[in-house]
Amino acid sequence: MTKLNMTKKRWEAIKNNDKNENDVFIYAVKSTMIFCKPSCKARLPKKENVTLYNDFQDAINLGYRPCKKCNPMGKHTEEEEWCIQIKNYINKYYFEELNLEKITKSCHGS
Ligand SMILES: [Zn+2]
Repeated sequence: MTKLNMTKKRWEAIKNNDKNENDVFIYAVKSTMIFCKPSCKARLPKKENVTLYNDFQDAINLGYRPCKKCNPMGKHTEEEEWCIQIKNYINKYYFEELNLEKITKSCHGS
């Protein structure tokens, strides 16, 4: 089980419904026993009730239920998949010279 530390950045991501952090962690809320993606637009929980995990399975094992609003176990939309693909590509070739052409070529899209 990997419990993640609540950092300022992660709390900001929850507060700002930051989609970019959706692949990084989910947050579980003790008071409601529900877990969410950072981008969830549900009411902001109290910080002291929030625990972060990098895998939703951890939250499930602890008895948390997935939020109906943000569907944290749901498959990514096609658009999100594409963003993940691009992000992975950039991470992988970080040290090489990158340009839009190279990225679009390898990720099939302009
Ligand atoms: Zn949610």
